[in-house]
Amino acid sequence: MKVLKFGGTSVANAENIKLVLDIVIQKAAQDQVIVVVSALSKVTDLLQVAASKAASSDETYKDIVLEIEKKHLDTLKQLIPVSEQSGLLSHVKRIINHLETLLDGCYLLGELSPRTADTILSFGELLSSFIIGEAFKQKVQNSSYKDSRELIKTNNNFGKAVVNFDLTNDLIATYFSTNNASIVVMPGFIAMSQDGISTTLGRGGSDYTAAILAGAVNATELEIWTDVNGMYTANPKLVKQAQPIATISYQEAMELSHFGAKVLYPPTIQPVLRKNIPILIKNTFEPAAAGTFISNQVTSNANPVKGISHIDNITLITLEGPGMIGVSGSSKRLFEVLSIGTINVIFITQASSEHSICIGILNADAEAAEIAINKAFAVEISQNKIDPCIVEKNLCIIALVGENMKNHQGLSGRMFSTLGKNNVNIRAIAQGASERNISAVINVRDVKKALNTLHENFFEENTKQLNLFVMGVGNVGEKFIEQIHQQKKFLKENLKINVRVIAISNSRKMYFDEDGIALKEWQFALETGEVANQDEFITRVKALNLRNSIFVDITANEGVSRTYEQYLKQNIAVVTCNKIACSSNYDNYKNLKNLSRQYNAPFLFETNVGAGLPIIDTVKNLIASGDKVHKIQAVLSGSLNFIFNNFDENNSFHDVVKEAGVQGFTEPDPKIDLSGIDVARKILILIRESGYHMEIDAIANESFMPAECLATTSNEAFFESLTKNAAHFEAIYKEALASNSRLKYVAQFEKGIANVGLRFIPKEHPFYNLEGKDNIVLFFTDRYVEQPLMIKGAGAGAAVTASGIFADVIRIGNI
Ligand code: ADP
Ligand code: ASP
Ligand code: MG
Repeated sequence: MKVLKFGGTSVANAENIKLVLDIVIQKAAQDQVIVVVSALSKVTDLLQVAASKAASSDETYKDIVLEIEKKHLDTLKQLIPVSEQSGLLSHVKRIINHLETLLDGCYLLGELSPRTADTILSFGELLSSFIIGEAFKQKVQNSSYKDSRELIKTNNNFGKAVVNFDLTNDLIATYFSTNNASIVVMPGFIAMSQDGISTTLGRGGSDYTAAILAGAVNATELEIWTDVNGMYTANPKLVKQAQPIATISYQEAMELSHFGAKVLYPPTIQPVLRKNIPILIKNTFEPAAAGTFISNQVTSNANPVKGISHIDNITLITLEGPGMIGVSGSSKRLFEVLSIGTINVIFITQASSEHSICIGILNADAEAAEIAINKAFAVEISQNKIDPCIVEKNLCIIALVGENMKNHQGLSGRMFSTLGKNNVNIRAIAQGASERNISAVINVRDVKKALNTLHENFFEENTKQLNLFVMGVGNVGEKFIEQIHQQKKFLKENLKINVRVIAISNSRKMYFDEDGIALKEWQFALETGEVANQDEFITRVKALNLRNSIFVDITANEGVSRTYEQYLKQNIAVVTCNKIACSSNYDNYKNLKNLSRQYNAPFLFETNVGAGLPIIDTVKNLIASGDKVHKIQAVLSGSLNFIFNNFDENNSFHDVVKEAGVQGFTEPDPKIDLSGIDVARKILILIRESGYHMEIDAIANESFMPAECLATTSNEAFFESLTKNAAHFEAIYKEALASNSRLKYVAQFEKGIANVGLRFIPKEHPFYNLEGKDNIVLFFTDRYVEQPLMIKGAGAGAAVTASGIFADVIRIGNI
């Protein structure tokens, strides 16, 4: 004999129930089948709401009754041929009338006792099982129906009644010994007390009904049919990468369900474990999927962790005080109080000094527990020996579960360092003595992040997911997204880095997609986005609270550079090609570096100097390995280099500057390049990264530009002024020509002094042959004394800058 249980979603409507009929009829060809059904999806919730509304004089409970009635009548009409419907419809209406009478009673009395609540909740399964039972009768001649209340007997603990197994097992065994029906349909969740009153087995309890039946009839298998492909490595609704677990032991399944894997109601395992009956969890909507097989076999899987689960709505209660040290019995008294109040303790830790004890319970029990504990320890509290208990609500427990965890070292270290790296604050820790689980209490807001990082670490071949929030999609930003799109597959397969772009914003619009934006159509997506708003952008990034979040600034905007602090403080990395922050006042630069260290959030800006060239990273490595930079000489402006390499008697200064803009080598405001400010900012950043304290004002900037050009306030006026001052620029060119030199805009730092300016470079100098828009930097250090360390290559352009930003992102992926 087999017992098959179908959950709320599996019987949500006629269409789904038809799938159930097919599954069961196929099984019934080989074996007698008991079919346990839940209420139609959400009906138990609706009944609960209706009952509380009625009891609080809210007449809208009547609307809910109408909704429930319609749901069931519709389902019945679609399952049963019209000719057979009328008697059955009246029967459903009679049940609904009965329900309404009970609710009217609550309304009139203004109260809802636990006993009445159970009777009301029982209607969900009574209705569903009646309709499904009739649907089977239409298809299978010898199918029958049995009300579980006649066989499952409990005490009067309404809401979560305790089963009297001796009586129940006898009743079930006797009943089935004479029942030859090939299919027997029964309601889940409901039972009856010995005095004949309806009880329930706790929310989610239909699983338990099925297990009780399976145990009593010695079934060959218990099948739990639900809406997912089995028990997953983590809740599939929260962790996209979660996978169904093929085989798992009773103990592991029990531990996972106890810690929140809702797919199986925790008490379910007990009745079948005793008889060694395996449980198979299957998906009604994908019956071909293998599902999860639960048995007494412990699989020696290479991965000692079987799954990760969590429980929401947890309150942590701490009882502490000097009066607890060495006084035996404090814990006993604490647990006694809780047990008297039927408060379920989910989590316990005790400091080894015995100075404090900390327990985790459900939020719903918090107030009752606080009152009861403070009352029980009132004497000690009044004598200041024990403090009134500390209550912290709205927390959550996450647990790693696996039978083989005890044989592996370092798992808890790995768990907590993974959480720590992602800034998940851990409030309390417990490890079961069986070492079958390690659990931690964290804030609710961190749950999704914690589950996903742990899952990534323990189940995903160390694939690291990077979540990018990109601000600025001009020339460089566009290239950056293109490059990610192109490299995504390679990175995933070869570097095990999964780069996802979660948000994109330009100055007009912003667009978020928590699942990652489809990069092929990002422009279209952005156009459909909301109006851009800096503050809202930050709020959203924080609220998403995704692991390995990276804010990528591809703007040249000062306002954006001022937001880095907020990201770093949330453990969100910042990658930027915007030079403003690092070249602003020293305190700000230093503050950002410090925040980065303090909050374990990388702050990378390789593209601030030399676009994609590895200049800053090289300085960092020099300094980290103990070298000291004494002198820097550099041509750091790709745009100025391009301009002076192309400016001659045939090409006017104006035209060359224009061309540099068209090719994307200049900043949006070309004055920033031509005034030398951009170069000054870059050398300043190199000086700071070399370990020197310097401000921008300390860098002598000997401009070659006429003051009139620099004073212009628009790009148009600026270009006009270049034409007007053509003679000035030609004179500089001629002077260089006459001395066989070339013009290069050079930045220099030596002995604490820095300057930038246009220089005549003679033939023998390494800068002389610097081509196109190239950059060159020479570092003279303790180790590179005579021959400097030289880095040279394209120092401007959208593609190389984008690849420099990309390299910073990958650096974070490799940390
Ligand atoms: P049913 O109505 O069929 O009893 P439930 O809603 O009680 O279904 O349980 C199935 C749900 O449990 C899934 O849809 C999923 O959202 C949730 N769930 C939580 N943790 C897990 C897990 N580790 N594996 C599978 N499902 C889980
Ligand atoms: N219908 C009940 C509930 O929603 C029992 C179950 O579905 O298992 O809690
Ligand atoms: Mg369930």
